[in-house]
Amino acid sequence: MSAPVIQGWCPGALRPMPSGDGLVVRIRLHGGRMTPDQARRIADLAATHGNGLMDLSARANLQLRGVTPASHGPLVAALTDMGLIDRDAQAEARRNVLVSPFWNEGDGTQRIAADLAQRLAAPDAPALPGKFGYAIDIGPAPVLREASADIRVERLADGALIVRAEGMESGARTLPERAAETILRLVRWFASSGGICEGRGRMAGLITRGIAAPETFHEVCAPVAGAYQPVPGLVKTGALVGLGFGQIDPATLAALAGLGPLRLTPWRMLMVEGALRMPDLPGVLTDPSDPMLRVVACTGAPGCLQAHQPTRDLARRLAPHVPPDGLLHVSGCAKGCAHPGPAALTLTATPRGFDLIRRGAAAAAPDLTDLSPVTPAHISKAT
Ligand code: SF4
Repeated sequence: MSAPVIQGWCPGALRPMPSGDGLVVRIRLHGGRMTPDQARRIADLAATHGNGLMDLSARANLQLRGVTPASHGPLVAALTDMGLIDRDAQAEARRNVLVSPFWNEGDGTQRIAADLAQRLAAPDAPALPGKFGYAIDIGPAPVLREASADIRVERLADGALIVRAEGMESGARTLPERAAETILRLVRWFASSGGICEGRGRMAGLITRGIAAPETFHEVCAPVAGAYQPVPGLVKTGALVGLGFGQIDPATLAALAGLGPLRLTPWRMLMVEGALRMPDLPGVLTDPSDPMLRVVACTGAPGCLQAHQPTRDLARRLAPHVPPDGLLHVSGCAKGCAHPGPAALTLTATPRGFDLIRRGAAAAAPDLTDLSPVTPAHISKAT
């Protein structure tokens, strides 16, 4: 099987990524939130300048698909009018800031995200690899540990904040008003300590090589927390709803916007801020036992140029056969974009069908190879 191409960068609005169904334009919403007006306008733009399909990315951004070279310019002009476009593609690429969707007014989340975005946009901000990112996760317990990040801000038991490098269990104690400055100290250390090689590199890789972070980042230990498992339902800050494969169409996005501001999550879910009831809309998953919450699938063929097979129809067909506590990941190739970690079951497309992997990631050694077709019996026997 040919190895998947590792791009080493994420699409943006100014630097879209070519895909099998046109350009993918990723919008990085400030503070991970859309006002109702922004959401309605983005829904219109997706229908007018793309093919109408939008994806929630694993970094809580919104991607418009099917944009053409001719429609890209007018789309960027409209997003610029809405204040959603950075000064240039480099500044956009640096603004990889993920926030917990459970933030509360005045808890420091939005302040840190805004301060950090401002510092990362400064002309003297260090050039960083395209995937380098930040998680602002300062609720009572961290919820973003499974999401990709290089620097994390979390809350200590005494209420203070810790800034730490991914891969380190200790970090520097800080306050919301000093957090962005502390993060930038760690960023500069990463850049000057050999963290970047030919434009690539992640914090965890540098730490694994045994390069010691500055003394101030050994001050306090990170909070201990178990794995966070998001499920649709009402929470203090609103209604958390699921989207099959993290995909949403313009009509559904506009309908959700009618219920309140929308917060993005890295879990193929949106939060309707302030909602007191679960919405009842087609395509919106509100039942925690919905089988569609047990399957993950990337775009697959023909939407992704690297995919060996279509993925989502198969995942939809197999979903009812996945046990309630299971997770099936159907991946168009060994890259495993939709779920980089291990899943209870993974089907990785090959030119001849699908490889089946138990308790592994998409690139792991398969237990069964080249299944064609994959049937519910394969899933039942493997679980
Ligand atoms: S995992 Fe899916 S989306 Fe990612 S490159 Fe492979 S086929 Fe494309």
